[in-house]
Amino acid sequence: MQYVDVILPLPLDGTFTYSIPQHLQGLVRTGCRLTVPFGKKKTYSAIAQQLHDNKPTDYEVKDVISVLDDYPILLPSQLKLWQWIAEYYLCPIGSVYKAALPSGLKEEDEQTNYKPKLVQCVQLTEAYFNDSQLVSVLVELKRSPKQVALLMKYLEMSKAAAALTLKNPTLLLEVEKLELLKQADCNTTNLKGLVEKGILEVYDKQVDRLEHDELPTEMVLHLLSPAQQHALDSINQQWAKLNVCLLHGVTSSGKTEVYIHLIHQALEQKKQVLYLLPEIVLTTQLVNRLKRVFGGRLGVYHSKYSDEQRVEIWQKQLSNEPYEIIVGVRSSVFLPFQKLGLVIVDEEHEQSFKQQDPAPRYHGRNVALMLAHMAGAKTLLGTATPSLESYYNCQRGKYGLVELFERYKQVTMPDIQVVNIAEERRKKMMNGPFTSVLLKEMNDALQNGEQVILFQNRRGYAPTIECHTCGWVPRCPNCDVSLTFHKRLNQVTCHYCGYSTMIPTKCPNCEETNLETIGFGTERIEDHIKKLFPEASVARMDLDTTRSRQAYEQILSNFQNGQTDILVGTQMVTKGLDFDRVSVVGILNADTMLNMPDFRSYEHAFQMMSQVAGRAGRRNKQGRVVLQTKTPELPVVKQVVANDYKALYDSQLEERQLFHYPPLRRLISIYMKHRYESTLNGLAYDMATLLRKVFGERVLGPDTPPIARIQSLYIRKIVLKVELGANMAEVRKRLRQAQQYYLSMDKYKAAQIYFEVD
Ligand code: ADP
Ligand code: ZN
Ligand code: ZN
Repeated sequence: MQYVDVILPLPLDGTFTYSIPQHLQGLVRTGCRLTVPFGKKKTYSAIAQQLHDNKPTDYEVKDVISVLDDYPILLPSQLKLWQWIAEYYLCPIGSVYKAALPSGLKEEDEQTNYKPKLVQCVQLTEAYFNDSQLVSVLVELKRSPKQVALLMKYLEMSKAAAALTLKNPTLLLEVEKLELLKQADCNTTNLKGLVEKGILEVYDKQVDRLEHDELPTEMVLHLLSPAQQHALDSINQQWAKLNVCLLHGVTSSGKTEVYIHLIHQALEQKKQVLYLLPEIVLTTQLVNRLKRVFGGRLGVYHSKYSDEQRVEIWQKQLSNEPYEIIVGVRSSVFLPFQKLGLVIVDEEHEQSFKQQDPAPRYHGRNVALMLAHMAGAKTLLGTATPSLESYYNCQRGKYGLVELFERYKQVTMPDIQVVNIAEERRKKMMNGPFTSVLLKEMNDALQNGEQVILFQNRRGYAPTIECHTCGWVPRCPNCDVSLTFHKRLNQVTCHYCGYSTMIPTKCPNCEETNLETIGFGTERIEDHIKKLFPEASVARMDLDTTRSRQAYEQILSNFQNGQTDILVGTQMVTKGLDFDRVSVVGILNADTMLNMPDFRSYEHAFQMMSQVAGRAGRRNKQGRVVLQTKTPELPVVKQVVANDYKALYDSQLEERQLFHYPPLRRLISIYMKHRYESTLNGLAYDMATLLRKVFGERVLGPDTPPIARIQSLYIRKIVLKVELGANMAEVRKRLRQAQQYYLSMDKYKAAQIYFEVD
């Protein structure tokens, strides 16, 4: 008897063994999908992971029901990567399966099944594939001129003459029904006439949904500047010794041009390239730039594409004509690559590479590094503001480091002024969210016909509203947060669970009508600008205005072609956008970033502020940045002003050393959630006690996180800090044991326990 271990698309650890019945033997192959029974009545499509002859002894084995694929849909290397992710990120391999495949390949239910796109085509029947037959039928049809016209058009479009001369029906070109009717100016009744006479027949052709760009006959690359050429050469030198290299290049230094040359180099060696970006919003501009060089050799893969399109890209990558370059967001690390030679991780410092929920809670950059490692490919990490992790790896010789500190065409770096909000407030010089300094800069820019970008890290109208009389604040019934005021919707909304409700006309607590808006979100800033600069045109770019890709692209192109004067937005405006007429950038409130309760908050604040500052002053003029804060004396503010990444790195590393944080320690957070707070407290206490017995002082907590309840579940957190040299396999094993031990106890079985690694 043969057996197969399968991965089920369920959040369950490990694989499950099934027997292969006689009639399916030989058909089951590693990487194929199988239908298997699970539980009382259910069936799932599972992935065959391994075949063997070992009969499991501790339970009764069931048979595989059917085999769904003739050929594997996963390469062995992909299964290996799944296993690594499940192990490293302490999550069920079934969750990796769920995240990795487009739903059309999971076939969990009928609706999401992948269906090929069909187009109706017309062809000559076998009986009429013959010159003399055709001549006589054309004579017979004399009284139906429309049918004659249609048949003649068909013969023309299918290039029938050549096929008939050579007596080879396979030379007939395919003719789409709609196109034929259009060109012949006929209707379906005319066609039906010919079909009923047995002359033409209609059939379904399967087509794909991929974009078909031309394959360029030659790739035209920009000539690199001497500094860029030097960077390119240095990267190659580093790669001769090490597999990973970090390109630390200031904004607008032309990193993308260097990437293009590296991609070209890999293609010349007949290798594939994965170009990873942190966010969908960044793809448009970049893809256009890359397509100009690489055309149809490049495919784009991300979640805003339809599931059918993603299935087709997947299939194409398995075929013998795969895209040579894939541009995509983190989920593209799951695509099949047959000959991967280069991975580029652009904006490698970006937090959005990290998947928060659900499991697998993986980091796209780190999985990409592992993918490249397994494939024997080279990796380039690129950014203007490296993550501490990557820079640390350079310092200790694990990655190569290449610097590009000169902007293309020697455009100067922006001038950054720090303005103290507290002081301006005291002197009553603030106008809404603007200091007098920023207002003046905005004024000047608009006078000169230049553009302004304003960055505020909060969407909505105001972070909250409050009753002026009694201090009542609307709170989310499901989460431990106050609700954000959205004026356009006339609602208050929870940004954690989506709960929203109408704004009360009076305070539900004291019945006064004294409700006051507190603070500034992007929506309110937009309103305020409209009052201050009625002549200027303002646009807002945040999650609320960019729900669709079209909306996002519209905002972007309006700004690019100068229809918009002022762009207000959240993090979205800090990223990779390349504009020519932006002379002023305002950072409205640095403190919201600096005060985040996270050990990486300074690092992230530095990255965000440096990135948004980099949007200012591109071509022929130095840009100006106004950084508004209540804490101008903070070192990190000074580091941003001096554009001194090394100072940031040194001061942060010292702090991380002192408080035992990454990259000097490995960090694993253990999250526990439960509907009842008292049960959760018991679990958190028990868990911490058990972990302390194993890991001693390395365990911190349990703590109540700043947001202690989300979606009606209370949350507790335990943190484990482990030395770099530790045996992580052992650590992970102990953590999993603890998790399973508590989840198997009756009193805790309704709890959730999961891990967040690094
Ligand atoms: P980065 O990715 O480092 O921010 P980009 O690659 O976007 O920089 O370059 C900034 C601008 O300068 C872009 O508009 C780009 O087209 C232009 N540029 C950079 N290098 C070159 C080059 N070698 N030839 C022509 N244009 C270049
Ligand atoms: Zn009140
Ligand atoms: Zn909520």
